[in-house]
Amino acid sequence: MAKNIDAKFGFATRSIHTGNEVDGETGAIRRPITMANSYALPYDAAEMNWSDAGTALYTRNGGANQRYLQEKLAALSQTEDAVVLASGVAALHAVFFTFLRSGDHVVSSNVMYIAVYRLLTQYLPEKYQISATLVDSSDVDAVRRAIRPNTKLIHIETPGNPTLNISDIQAIAHIAHENGALLSVDNTFASPYNQLPATLGADLVVESLTKYINGHGDAMGGAVLGKKERIDQIRAEAMVNVGGVISPFNAWLIMRGAVTLPLRMRQHNESGLAIARFLAEHPLVRFVAYPGLESHRGHEIAKRQMHPGFSGMIAFGLKLDADGHNRFISRLKIITSAVSLGHDESLIVFLGPDDERQYLFPEEFSGGFFRFSVGLEDTEDLIGDLDQALSSLLS
Ligand SMILES: *Cc1c(COP(=O)(O)O)cnc(C)c1O
Repeated sequence: MAKNIDAKFGFATRSIHTGNEVDGETGAIRRPITMANSYALPYDAAEMNWSDAGTALYTRNGGANQRYLQEKLAALSQTEDAVVLASGVAALHAVFFTFLRSGDHVVSSNVMYIAVYRLLTQYLPEKYQISATLVDSSDVDAVRRAIRPNTKLIHIETPGNPTLNISDIQAIAHIAHENGALLSVDNTFASPYNQLPATLGADLVVESLTKYINGHGDAMGGAVLGKKERIDQIRAEAMVNVGGVISPFNAWLIMRGAVTLPLRMRQHNESGLAIARFLAEHPLVRFVAYPGLESHRGHEIAKRQMHPGFSGMIAFGLKLDADGHNRFISRLKIITSAVSLGHDESLIVFLGPDDERQYLFPEEFSGGFFRFSVGLEDTEDLIGDLDQALSSLLS
């Protein structure tokens, strides 16, 4: 019994209903987890295309739970199609693997997830002769100047991990298309609730499902979203034949997490802004980077392309040395010191001078800073926790 959930329904309605149907066998109103590796072949197997991702064949070609999740994510992202893979990094690699070949050139944000940094500056050039120019993509002219005749892809993260750098998706999409290149946007920090890159001209949108979309810190996954033809190409090349498939169980967990994405994001947005404002006023805080603050360099662009909020990711530094930053973390009682982000619980990580991307960050970030993922705890409790840890360092 197919429900008619289409684009005219609101984000919350799509979050709940798209991809879920009454199970034909049991009548259960939640679809089951199908933990099978293989599917019965048709009578005449000679007609099978073994690289096909559309028919039930083998779970590396795509299973039921993967397909349900893909349906939901495409509906939330306003794209024709989606492919889900084992992690955000598998999704990013799938973009590079599918759309680049030896001799091609990439223009990339100089603020990007660390595995992308290593792929673009080390593995792809050394192993496959694919070169990359890293630019501050908040500067549209710098992006334009970096284009070469062999540029096939522009890749940006906005907001960028970890500095919260903001890039103008629409303007950069224009540059990509004028030059016959694709634009891919890593949307992990915003989530589709706050930003829809495909509606602003991005050809490929990447999400780490591990973060806000799952939201509960208990499953990894990644997705690439875009036009069906391109997503089919990713499935055929990078999913079926490279093999970074997501498990049906993780796809099911992420599907369940995504149901509450809009409710959770509203709280992340609200607490994110309140905490950024609190930090900006504190005498021990050296700087705060949060795109929702008027003082943020990218605030005007963020206001145009992020709705209804600015998410729950904050970067900030203290007027202390690396040791002082570590002492601050040790005094926190609620906020957990751990990597990852977008979980229900608040997570903080200190990025010190040993981060290999440090040389790319603006001046104020040198000497170390925190990447803070504001969780879903009571806003007052989070502010109270930060306040008591900061006060203990003032005395
Ligand atoms: C975490 C993250 C990734 C990688 O996702 P995984 O699921 O950990 O592989 C990619 N991009 C951004 C912006 C991230 O924060």
